[in-house]
Amino acid sequence: MKIGNYNVCAIQTGRFALDGGAMFGNVPKVLWSKTNPSDELNRIDLALRSLLIFDDKSVILVDTGIGQKWTERSQEIYKIDFSTYNLESSLAKFGFTKDDVSGVILTHLHFDHAGGSTYTNETGEILPTFPNAKYYVHKKNWEHANNPSEREKASYLKENFVPLYGQGKLELLETTDFAENIELLESNGHTIGMHCVKISDKKNTVVYCADLIPTSSHVPVPFTMGYDIQPLVIIEEKKKILAQAVKENWILFFEHDPYGEACKVASENGKFKANEKITL
Ligand SMILES: [Zn+2]
Repeated sequence: MKIGNYNVCAIQTGRFALDGGAMFGNVPKVLWSKTNPSDELNRIDLALRSLLIFDDKSVILVDTGIGQKWTERSQEIYKIDFSTYNLESSLAKFGFTKDDVSGVILTHLHFDHAGGSTYTNETGEILPTFPNAKYYVHKKNWEHANNPSEREKASYLKENFVPLYGQGKLELLETTDFAENIELLESNGHTIGMHCVKISDKKNTVVYCADLIPTSSHVPVPFTMGYDIQPLVIIEEKKKILAQAVKENWILFFEHDPYGEACKVASENGKFKANEKITL
C-alpha cells in the first residue's frame, strides 16, 4: 500500500506459539478457542509480523521478530519456527538485505518484538542485525526494560537491546513525531512506554498495533492478554483507538495474528468487532 511517498508492506519473520490462556487473559477458552484453536499443550499459533516502510531514501522496519539467539529448549517451548518465514527471505521479496535497513522502530523491547535486533557472531559477540540502521525506542520503555518487575523479567532479555545502546545504535525517543506521515502513539497498558505506529496521509491510515491489539481476535475491548501489566489502562486505550479507527476508517495491522495481517473495525451496539480483512 502506498501512503505518502512510502510503500507500506507486511513482512513475516517467523512463527511461534504462546499459551492460549495467557494470550486471552480472563476470557474463557470456550470463547477464544473458536477463533484460535490450541495444540495439545494449550499453545496457540502466532505470527511474527513486521512492517516495512520504504521510499527511495529510507528503509524502515517496525519490530524485528523473535530472532535467532535461542537454546533448543526455548525453541521447543515457544515453538519457534523459521521454516515458512524468516527475516532474510522476507526482506529479499522486496529486493532488500539487512544492510539496506536504515531505521528500526522497536514498539517495545519484549523478546518477540526486539529479539531479531541483534545476533551472535562466530566468536560469541552480540552485534546489531542491521549494521547500517539507527534503532529507536521510547525512552520510558528503555528505562522500564532495564529495571523490569519479576513479572516481566522473562520478557525483557538484555542481549536484545543493551548491546545496541552500548554500540551507539539505539536512540531513546521522547517525542511522538517520527517522520513525515509517521507518528508514534504511546500506550502503557501492556507494558510501560510501548509505541503503536501510525502511518497516514489524507487518504489512508494504517496503525501497527503491537501488543495493544495483537490479533484480530483481540479487537473486542475485554479481550486483553494475561501479559498486560495494567489491564484497566489497556481497556481505556483500546476504547480510544478503536473509536477513532471506526470514525476515520483506519486499517489496524496485527503483529501476531496467524490468519490475517490487517482489518478495518466496525462498531455495533456499542461493541467493536473486526470487520473487512485487508492485505496491504
Ligand atoms: Zn509485548
